[in-house]
Amino acid sequence: MENTTKPQSRMPRPRAGLTTLLIIALIVSALFLYFDTGSAPSTEVPLSTLVSGVKIGDVVSVDVTANKLEATLKDGKKVFANKETKQSMTDVLADVSPDIRAKLQIQVHDESQSDFWMNIVISVVPFVLIVVFFLFMFRQAQSSNNQALSFGKSSARLYENNNKKTTFADVAGATEAKQELIEIVDFLKNPIKYLAMGAKIPKGVLLIGAPGCGKTLLARAVAGEANVPFFSISGSEFVEMFVGVGASRVRDLFKRAKRNAPCIIFVDEIDAVGRQRGTGLGGGHDEREQTLNQILTEMDGFETDTNVIVMAATNRPDVLDPALLRPGRFDRRVVVDQPDIKDREAILEVHVRNKPMGKDVNLEVIAKQTPGFVGADLENLMNEAALLAARYNKKKIGMKEIEQSVEKVVMGPERKSKIMSPKEKEVTAYHEVGHALVGHLTPGCDPVHKISIVSRGMALGVTWFMPDEDKHLYAKAKYHAEMASLLGGYVAEELVFGKENITTGASNDLEKATGTARKMIMNYGMSDVLGPVIYGEHNREVFLGRDFGHMKNFSEEIAAKIDAEVHVFITRAYDRAKKVLSEHRPTLEKVAKVLLEKENISREEFLELVSDAEKVTA
Ligand code: ADP
Ligand code: MG
Ligand code: ZN
Repeated sequence: MENTTKPQSRMPRPRAGLTTLLIIALIVSALFLYFDTGSAPSTEVPLSTLVSGVKIGDVVSVDVTANKLEATLKDGKKVFANKETKQSMTDVLADVSPDIRAKLQIQVHDESQSDFWMNIVISVVPFVLIVVFFLFMFRQAQSSNNQALSFGKSSARLYENNNKKTTFADVAGATEAKQELIEIVDFLKNPIKYLAMGAKIPKGVLLIGAPGCGKTLLARAVAGEANVPFFSISGSEFVEMFVGVGASRVRDLFKRAKRNAPCIIFVDEIDAVGRQRGTGLGGGHDEREQTLNQILTEMDGFETDTNVIVMAATNRPDVLDPALLRPGRFDRRVVVDQPDIKDREAILEVHVRNKPMGKDVNLEVIAKQTPGFVGADLENLMNEAALLAARYNKKKIGMKEIEQSVEKVVMGPERKSKIMSPKEKEVTAYHEVGHALVGHLTPGCDPVHKISIVSRGMALGVTWFMPDEDKHLYAKAKYHAEMASLLGGYVAEELVFGKENITTGASNDLEKATGTARKMIMNYGMSDVLGPVIYGEHNREVFLGRDFGHMKNFSEEIAAKIDAEVHVFITRAYDRAKKVLSEHRPTLEKVAKVLLEKENISREEFLELVSDAEKVTA
């Protein structure tokens, strides 16, 4: 966010002054040195020549500087010669007749004169450097001192409310969440109304939603709408190297907030400190517990009319400590959903506001092409498109750039430089068409959106399936169809090039298919053999804090049964794929040839190519 002020930070002192002064001094002395020595060009001659010049009266004057004798001749020219250190001028001019010597002007210069500036530089510079060094050290020590003292201060940033504030208009979609938060805004604006009714003002609002759905944005919008100060801190900022810092930061933060009431405290990613207490492994728990306890204490300590609302955001509500969620604390829970197709269009609308858009851009189409994208993805997408348009030197962002960006985000950037041998290309083409064809001909699978054998990221080729509409429930049949299509690549390679020539290209597909089978059996109760029982924890991500220790809640016999059932599922998928591709071998060949030639096949082209193939019911 722009327009932030950091109350803690001190103004930087003008450190540049001293350095500049030093540099100027150096330059000046260098200049003096230069002009001092190199003023008049004179040629060197042997000492004897100079002396004979004096003898015949050719020399008007001699300047002596240390051992250097500079003679000015009658015609104004200058020559110089060097004498020995021990020789005096009397020695040098011993042979010269006294009357000529009387006429000769001899001027002896102090020898240290020319070195004057050099000496100054040599003696002053180290001194200045030492002083600068000490000043620097001193300042360092001072600032770390300050740091140590301000350690327990919260580093929460205060967002001032000024013309650039976020409002609900910047948040597209998320209708329900906004509805709930509008109420909060009203509490902050007219607390009297609620207090007169004897109602308690809510203290805590917990925003729950996947990353990038707009939780932080919503919290900022609440502050903007209510026109109150907004203290924002991330959960991880409470936790430092030293024990007790988190708790004292919490105390400081709440103190500052109370001084600024009415206001909002926003703790982003609260799961960093708000995890269940006393359950985890590993160090640092005491610190987290203390911090969490302090937050709870502070929230309880609010007077009923303290107009401070604590908002927090998390994408892991399941790991939060129950004490945080009980009434009187974060009892308001606002779920920020994944945007659906209408929301996505609205979010895109927000992010094209400040961009020049071409007339051909249809955001509805883009919204349709981006299932599963959240707000942050869509923002990123429009940014990519703007970058592309700029790279093409366009005046406006066109549909082409946006669609290209969608592809880039979904499938990874194209790597045109990656060289594939013709054989690899052929194998990849058959492999990808295998996926596409099995997917297309198996009921339940999403439609093919694009096939490509331009390598992207790690993949040599991609088949992109895209649902016609957003889905929230998935049927068993869809998973089976998906697995068949995943095995389509493997089977196509086997059919066309022989069992011995199957490549490593299918490894990722097999991994995904096996994963799907395991999830169907263990998490969704979709196996007839194992029945509607959940094996293992449903939401089992790697999270040491809680799940470690009871990852496996079933017996060895069940484990063996699960493995066997996974095998059955995969074999079934393999058979299905094999049936489809054997029956449609000519279509497989035809599409693969086209793909080899064009490298990309769009949805329409694909439908055209396979229009004569019939769906196989297995
Ligand atoms: P998180 O839920 O992870 O806190 P953020 O609020 O930080 O997500 O969202 C990241 C960015 O995505 C925002 O700055 C905003 O530009 C964009 N964004 C997310 N959701 C929306 C939305 N509903 N409307 C408009 N922009 C959104
Ligand atoms: Mg966030
Ligand atoms: Zn594949």
